[in-house]
Amino acid sequence: MKNSAFRIAVLPGDGIGVEVMDACLAVLDALTAKVGGFALLTERLPGGALHYRDTGTAFSEENFDKCARADAVLFGAMGWPDIRYPDGTEIAPQLDLRVRMGLYAGVRPIRAIPGVPTALADPRASGIDLVILRESTEGMFASRGKGVIDGDREARDTQVITRATSERLFDFAFRLADRRRTRGRPGLATVVDKSNVFRSFAFFRKIFHERAQAFPQLQARHHYIDAMALDLVRRPWDFDVIVTENLFGDILSDLGAGLIGGMGFAPSADVGDDHAVFQPSHGSAPDIAGTGKANPTAMLLSAALMLDWLGERHGVTACNEAARRLEGAVDRVFADGRVRTPELGGTDGTAAVAHAVVAAL
Ligand code: ATP
Repeated sequence: MKNSAFRIAVLPGDGIGVEVMDACLAVLDALTAKVGGFALLTERLPGGALHYRDTGTAFSEENFDKCARADAVLFGAMGWPDIRYPDGTEIAPQLDLRVRMGLYAGVRPIRAIPGVPTALADPRASGIDLVILRESTEGMFASRGKGVIDGDREARDTQVITRATSERLFDFAFRLADRRRTRGRPGLATVVDKSNVFRSFAFFRKIFHERAQAFPQLQARHHYIDAMALDLVRRPWDFDVIVTENLFGDILSDLGAGLIGGMGFAPSADVGDDHAVFQPSHGSAPDIAGTGKANPTAMLLSAALMLDWLGERHGVTACNEAARRLEGAVDRVFADGRVRTPELGGTDGTAAVAHAVVAAL
């Protein structure tokens, strides 16, 4: 077996990022001991808003280099409301990592976990299983830190859509839809845009349909963002892979998380051609930090995405097996009611969920 010891850069960050990361590392220890066939060599790296407050640096160049040299990055959450850069913007090294490491594909699975109530009463909601693929290096976010305020009269941010990134993004979307087909999903990719109003989006959609030609076995559809906001609430079970621009993806993925129990259940992966960062979709949650109430499920499912990606990339099937086991253990603890987290009206916090998942492994 090749490449079976993986170097993982671990960035706990701020607030509940640290809490869910500690829980996740304990679960990963139990999982690797159980499955065998690969090892995770973790190194914790400091960074985030509190680190910025204490040292004047949010995330050092040395640590950026370590992330670039690692096989994968596992990330908790960074940011704190009242700690800001002098220009008033948030401390968000995760956004810098996305751009610097070329992580164009933001993978946000939205899957109903058995036993976790969804926001919709319709019984079909238990079948929600889609992925929002958010382009993560350009779109409206290309303007981050570069917007122009003209006097106190006018402000401008500019959207950037490039052919090179869009082609890679859509190929990723189609490959993902194809892979999901092997586990019974319909093989459907839907591009979401506002091409009826903006040229940049018409360009985006055109490239989507160009790339679709290479995947005749899949269905390629398009949807306007406003209609998607409606349909994601009205009939989310009809979608499979949804691929969209950065800002639209940011918004839709929170909506998606709301459908399946909240931020504590929504994992994510930011993937490029050479690197990937795995983190829960949620932030540092200052309102519950330090209370032990944070739900580690999104972090655990993000670690499962990491194991699956490592296994696929390096041909180490034990990693894919570990990913399936971890996801299965998470599903079981909720399905049989072993845990009920505070968002669901229960009292099981971070440690209780982690213990139950380890027991279910
Ligand atoms: P960011 O902008 O950094 O993504 P945010 O300010 O949008 O973060 P979050 O930190 O994600 O917000 O928190 C949003 C809400 O969801 C808060 O009320 C928080 O308590 C809740 N929340 C987030 N993550 C979890 C979790 N893992 N478990 C329980 N509740 C959570």
